[in-house]
Amino acid sequence: MEVTIKDTKICLIQGDITLEETDAIVNAANTSLRGGGGVDGAIHRAGGPTILEECIEKYPNGCKTGEAKVTHGGLLKAMWIIHTPGPIWRGGGQNEPELLKNSYRNSFQQAEIIGATSISFPSISTGVYGFPIQKAALIAVETVLNCLPSNSIREVHFVLFSNRDYQIYEKTLTKLMS
Ligand code: ADP
Repeated sequence: MEVTIKDTKICLIQGDITLEETDAIVNAANTSLRGGGGVDGAIHRAGGPTILEECIEKYPNGCKTGEAKVTHGGLLKAMWIIHTPGPIWRGGGQNEPELLKNSYRNSFQQAEIIGATSISFPSISTGVYGFPIQKAALIAVETVLNCLPSNSIREVHFVLFSNRDYQIYEKTLTKLMS
């Protein structure tokens, strides 16, 4: 699915974010920034060891939940990786929605700082971190749409690994557009 809002193209893609050719891709990292499973593991595997080396050198204290840190893309087509630890779902009463919003907002802000004009997001926090996908999709799409007017990003990809996740994002975007 692809829509254009003002000057920005929003694309929903089912697939592997490590294959994206946007200027930046976002990594659903953990707070240590020392690699992990899921999309984090896939990005470090595909991008090679220089990504972890840069994380260790530049970010000895890792990254707080909802914040975002940048490294180069290593062997990936994307020039940059924006690492953001999303919140772990603990039932919804621990500020999880606000923290997830921060992950998207701060990733956008970092993209602006590095001069990226295109960015790809995975579905942050909805894997091992257990954030309910419907709620997360609404936060993801809404936050990105809100960030667009004040940002130089011209193309946003949401890269969903499963067909189910893709369909939920598709419904969410359709609803928000209507
Ligand atoms: P979190 O810890 O933030 O929940 P996960 O990596 O466990 O992060 O999951 C986040 C989402 O990323 C899940 O929907 C998972 O299916 C998806 N995912 C896993 N590998 C990839 C990949 N290579 N490309 C895109 N999405 C992926």
